[in-house]
Amino acid sequence: MIINGQDEILVSQMEHHSNIVPWQMLCHKKGSRIVPIPINDKGEIILEEYEKLFSPRTKMVAITQVSNVLGTINPIREIVAIAHSHGVCVLVDGAQAAPHLSTDVRELDADFYTLSGHKMYGPTGIGVLYGKKALLDSMPPWQGGGGMIKDVDFDKTVYMDLPYKFEAGTGNIADAVALGTAVDYIEEIGMNNIECHEQELTKYAMEALSAIKGSYTIGNAYNKTSVLSFILDGVSPQKMAELLDSEGIAVRAGHHCAQPVLKHFGLSSTLRASIGLYNTYEDIDALVKGIIKHRYKS
Ligand SMILES: *Cc1c(COP(=O)(O)O)cnc(C)c1O
Repeated sequence: MIINGQDEILVSQMEHHSNIVPWQMLCHKKGSRIVPIPINDKGEIILEEYEKLFSPRTKMVAITQVSNVLGTINPIREIVAIAHSHGVCVLVDGAQAAPHLSTDVRELDADFYTLSGHKMYGPTGIGVLYGKKALLDSMPPWQGGGGMIKDVDFDKTVYMDLPYKFEAGTGNIADAVALGTAVDYIEEIGMNNIECHEQELTKYAMEALSAIKGSYTIGNAYNKTSVLSFILDGVSPQKMAELLDSEGIAVRAGHHCAQPVLKHFGLSSTLRASIGLYNTYEDIDALVKGIIKHRYKS
């Protein structure tokens, strides 16, 4: 799988910038292009439109399992199957799925799968790139250095087998240990327990937020997880976030590193509450109370 010339990479409209910009940089270098996979107004991938985008030029699909703005859980199994029926590989961004859903990369049949340590209660600056063995075997190293070679001469180098050929230099050992501890912590609580707890709170919060006058939830997919974006009529998200923060209620305001999806909804900024395994019904009540208290001040 080499991307060149007129080739196309299908990238969904709900991607985080980190699953758009690197592909764009590659396309810029190779003269190839990104084709956006459209979404509907609930924030779901339109599968029929997705399927129509495939042509002999399509070389890769890059898509998130869960949107960090909409909370949408994409039907990755189906998306991958469609791509594979056209002989195209899929990279799945699992940054938001890993902390919220139990996921089996083999069951999804993803060719590549990524996740970030700091989204799952682990350290920053470290994550996981999973790839199918045959694909990784066929790929050249992306960096050169020590610890990744079998034999070096001035006219040629023979690389080590997987995973070492991709691990040049001394790695970030301490954070890898810490990430392992974070994974143990999640597994101890149980991914299914986390999923159930977050699903219940999400339902409760979606209802509570939409009951606030002049409040609109962005991202109303049938399958969604605990990422809740919303806007309030005539209220600046930034100002509201500051007011809530002053009461110890942490929401984020902004474009959430996913400008194309906000543009789809005609927005440049939303408020976003992200529910984690540590949140409670009382937290949601406090959020709603805080919004109602401050909405005419912001
Ligand atoms: C946070 C996030 C990323 C980026 O991960 P970093 O480790 O912060 O670079 C990518 N995709 C999604 C969906 C995210 O939520």
